[in-house]
Amino acid sequence: MNIGFIGLGNMGLPMAKNLAAAGHRVTGFDVVPAAREAATEAGIAIAAGNSEAATDADVVITMLPNGAIAKAVASEVLPAMSKGALLIDCSTVDVNSAREIDALASEQGVLCLDAPVSGGVGGAEAGTLTFMVGGSGGAFAKGAPFFDIMGKKAVHCGEGGAGQAAKICNNMLLGISMIGACEAFALAKKLGLSQERLFDVISTSSGSCWSVNTYCPVPGVGPKSPADNDYRPGFAAALMLKDLGLSQQAADAADAPTPLGRHAADLYSAMNDAGMGGDDFSAMIRFLGTMERK
Ligand code: NAD
Repeated sequence: MNIGFIGLGNMGLPMAKNLAAAGHRVTGFDVVPAAREAATEAGIAIAAGNSEAATDADVVITMLPNGAIAKAVASEVLPAMSKGALLIDCSTVDVNSAREIDALASEQGVLCLDAPVSGGVGGAEAGTLTFMVGGSGGAFAKGAPFFDIMGKKAVHCGEGGAGQAAKICNNMLLGISMIGACEAFALAKKLGLSQERLFDVISTSSGSCWSVNTYCPVPGVGPKSPADNDYRPGFAAALMLKDLGLSQQAADAADAPTPLGRHAADLYSAMNDAGMGGDDFSAMIRFLGTMERK
């Protein structure tokens, strides 16, 4: 198949490499010259621009920073795509932008999926991402073989926008649960309780959750995690802040009360303002250590 791949950054380049390694003809584009050079070195053909990368493509995949850019790129590439071709936006964007891109594609007779991912750069490199997908059943069936190459699981969540909705609900819960885990371990320390013993208790009790059992924010406790690597990401706090912001934007639009989601966004915003946005999101435990009890 001919694949156009737009946005060859930290996530996009390894995803494009996996598609090329599986035998597809991948033509990419990125606005940043260094990204284009890295893609050329990796054997990806580079087009003169976004619409050239989309011309003659059976599938165009975008992996871009935000909804405004994803919408602008969709407007650029859709007129160059054939009717019945498929546009897959894998970026994490707001639900409304995903729905608008879906509507633009439908006007052009192009199939469309919003398919944000979980799994980070490691998952993109290893081809083990999870895709949360919104769009028609026909579009999902056409996209499935590509999800199989770039990932290990793709969940069809519903119509256009449903993938982004699932992603931000999951990440809102993750942000909240990580802050809860950090508070529990920080309180235990002040109470003189061993961090290891608390892990033994929580990981097998009713407080167990992914943020403790798999990704414990305390160095040397539980399975290996970014805490054991001086909180190098992993999943950067700045990206968690982005996703929490999207969850609050969606909650405002849907009039859904999410008081803990709002509080989590405020805490990650404060952590970011303290210059810790590049640290893993589990470094929230360090940030809590700089706060005073009011
Ligand atoms: P990145 O900034 O490394 O890559 C984005 C790329 O898009 C950049 O190379 C940029 O130059 C390019 N770009 C921007 N505007 C463009 C345009 N108009 N035309 C063509 N290219 C353009 O970001 P990333 O870490 O690869 O993340 C991409 C998306 O994936 C984001 O939406 C992010 O939220 C999401 N995501 C990232 C991770 C992660 O761990 N990095 C995990 C899950 C989801």
